[in-house]
Amino acid sequence: MNFNYSMGEDSQLYKYSEYIIKEIEERKYIFPADNAQIQECNINEKVTDVLIELLDIGKGVYFNETDVEGQVMNFVSKYGLLGFINYFPINELYFLDKEIVLKQDKMIDEYLIKTDVVSYIRIFMPNLLNQDIADKILMAKENIKANRITENSKMLINMNFMYSHDYGEPVEMITKYAKQLYEDLIKIQNEDTNDLNVKDFVALFESKNGKELVLKYETLKNAMDAVFVSEVTAEVRKLKICRYCDKPFIAVNPKAEYDTPACKNKANVYKFRSKEK
Ligand SMILES: [Zn+2]
Repeated sequence: MNFNYSMGEDSQLYKYSEYIIKEIEERKYIFPADNAQIQECNINEKVTDVLIELLDIGKGVYFNETDVEGQVMNFVSKYGLLGFINYFPINELYFLDKEIVLKQDKMIDEYLIKTDVVSYIRIFMPNLLNQDIADKILMAKENIKANRITENSKMLINMNFMYSHDYGEPVEMITKYAKQLYEDLIKIQNEDTNDLNVKDFVALFESKNGKELVLKYETLKNAMDAVFVSEVTAEVRKLKICRYCDKPFIAVNPKAEYDTPACKNKANVYKFRSKEK
């Protein structure tokens, strides 16, 4: 399948002006800073660059590089948190259920003790009391009732959860996700097969005029998944990993194997030397 997409105009992300790392129950989280303000974050023009930055974090995790945490903080400060809370539940309106059914995904396993809705939300809002969470759920339910399920009611709900000042994401969840994407790209590059489960991602696109697909996303993770799939399923794949320095990059020339001329030269010297032996 080949995704040629354009960006949906109503895909709007938000982020906070500043983030901090807080340790809660021996887990590092990224939260908005105390006085941080929420602001619009428009990534439509540079969504591929954002993906490259995320893959570069994945490379850091994969090779155990130092200061991956700094890289993650830099990424979140620029583009906001990923919005994982919306990703794992099968039901988009998960807060209407008592027990949540989650997608099978290794990223969430270690956080799950119970799958009742309050415990699930607490993974991302560990500073709140159960009563505060119950109040938020009630408010979300009322928003649905008052507005039915419109874009507007969804936005109000997101402001209560994923864009709330109390919402945080474990650093490890972000690094695992970035590593997974990087590993997928290595596999695709080495095997040159596209055995990705594309069907999971089709929902992110909406057909326009029966031909062009419009990418609609309401979380940064949605956007990254969709752009990744669209890049790796392209007829001519330009998203690559440099064969010398392992950095992810977008190739201007589709045949390129190295991200910079310097890497190409070094790789040639290396090849030459190994032939001499
Ligand atoms: Zn390179």
